[in-house]
Amino acid sequence: MRVGALEIHPVHDGWARMPATDLLRFTGGRDDPWLPHEEFLEADGNIRLSLGGFLVRTGDRVVLIDAGAGRIDNDVYHGGQFLESLAALDLGPDDVTDVVFTHLHFDHVGWSTQQGTVVFPRATFRCHGEDWDHFVAGPNPEAGSVRKLSPLADRLEPFDGDTTVAPGITVRHAPGHTPGSAVIVVADGTERALLLGDVVHCPVELMENEWEAVVDVDPALARRTREALAKELEGSDVPIAAAHFPGLRFGRLLAGTGQRHWSFD
Ligand SMILES: [Zn+2]
Repeated sequence: MRVGALEIHPVHDGWARMPATDLLRFTGGRDDPWLPHEEFLEADGNIRLSLGGFLVRTGDRVVLIDAGAGRIDNDVYHGGQFLESLAALDLGPDDVTDVVFTHLHFDHVGWSTQQGTVVFPRATFRCHGEDWDHFVAGPNPEAGSVRKLSPLADRLEPFDGDTTVAPGITVRHAPGHTPGSAVIVVADGTERALLLGDVVHCPVELMENEWEAVVDVDPALARRTREALAKELEGSDVPIAAAHFPGLRFGRLLAGTGQRHWSFD
């Protein structure tokens, strides 16, 4: 995806597949909530998610947005291709100068460390401070996150509001899915694109307000955040991608009568 002079590359790590009802629930009245959205499901009712991240080169910076799920292969998650995908962009781990996490769930930080060693040795790591506290440094950390992320502590630069982290790359606090979830705005001149992290898992959540992600830490706040984003983006022609959209593809949210529409680029 080209944004002015910048280019956003998907960095594929793998995929996940689960019953759609394990991921999203519909709080509206419709009997079969997926009926208008069958294009997003497989025939057996499963939903398939991409795993990975995005890469932006800006000035002399090589910036990763999220770092995949890591080497994982179980009934649901299949990751492990991230470094090969980077190599296909002619980049090795040494080339990465910045890693920005949309949030700290395991499927976004998989390649931050491997066996306790930082994977991108020259990189500065960034996430919202509220996520660092929630998952790692606060009173009730998650053991897996502590193990995975503690080696980053001395090269972490947490942010606590909306801020520009590299030329053309701005983080916006978008809490609810996790306390420190962030949306990444990539902008150059009058053009911009948005990376939504897990504020949205599937475009249906932008099309209708009544969807909730089962894993949202604060469902009510997540819903307010999502609704505000959808209102801002509908009809704007701004390209949007999220961390798990199929193929890590971009699309646009179109204004419709009664219901918004989604169109992949
Ligand atoms: Zn995720």
